[in-house]
Amino acid sequence: MSCQETRELIDAYADSELDLVSTLNVERHMQVCEDCLSAHRNLQALRSLMNDESLYFRPSSGLRKHITSALGAEVKTERRLPLASWRWLAAAASVALVTIATFTLVQHPKGTSAEGLVAQEVISSHVRSLMEPHHRADVPSSDQHTVKPWFNGKLDFSPPVENLADRGFPLIGGRLDYLGGRSVAALVYQRNQHYINLFIWPSIDARQMAEESMRRQGYNLIHWDNSGMEYWVISDLNESELRQFTEIIRNRLQPSS
Ligand SMILES: [Zn+2]
Repeated sequence: MSCQETRELIDAYADSELDLVSTLNVERHMQVCEDCLSAHRNLQALRSLMNDESLYFRPSSGLRKHITSALGAEVKTERRLPLASWRWLAAAASVALVTIATFTLVQHPKGTSAEGLVAQEVISSHVRSLMEPHHRADVPSSDQHTVKPWFNGKLDFSPPVENLADRGFPLIGGRLDYLGGRSVAALVYQRNQHYINLFIWPSIDARQMAEESMRRQGYNLIHWDNSGMEYWVISDLNESELRQFTEIIRNRLQPSS
């Protein structure tokens, strides 16, 4: 079997669509032709890249590893076969193009910025806490001196806890939650029939971020950074009252300002 014949069958071979005789012919050719063997491997690498669902959620680690090893394999082969090197460059370029396409696909269409992803998790956590009333608060208490120490030993930071009952936002309790790949503090407040979740965790970078608000899936979200902590507030409460809540919290945390 010639290289050209093999190449014509290689797609079908990769999909296990060939009959036994053709399969054996392709395999026999690839045993003696490094060129076609590598073409087949490259095809497989591309396919596994396109099929690996985990990559759509972890483009930075998994995808990079795949690409690096795929490119690394191609580069090694290229050194052994200098005459055919243009093929490997072309193959590497196609892998790179797929990479770019995949990254673009991953990062842009659904507004999946880092902030958007966090917002999505905040919403999920909030909804979950509303669906399971017994999970709304692991430590149901309106006493900040009960809720704050409850987090000791459960988190690698100590969240500020304030009861705002005197301002019309009584503290209901606190619970541990899991957001953005880390354990976070969730404080639950109530305003009439509306629940407010306040999520707190140490911010990754030290930048002081201006307050940002957004409205998603019927919920109002406000988030900001302060003194190395990241804060996310979410509720179905109307925006002006949620802003009021946020303002009170921020003033309590920063009495000087
Ligand atoms: Zn060949």
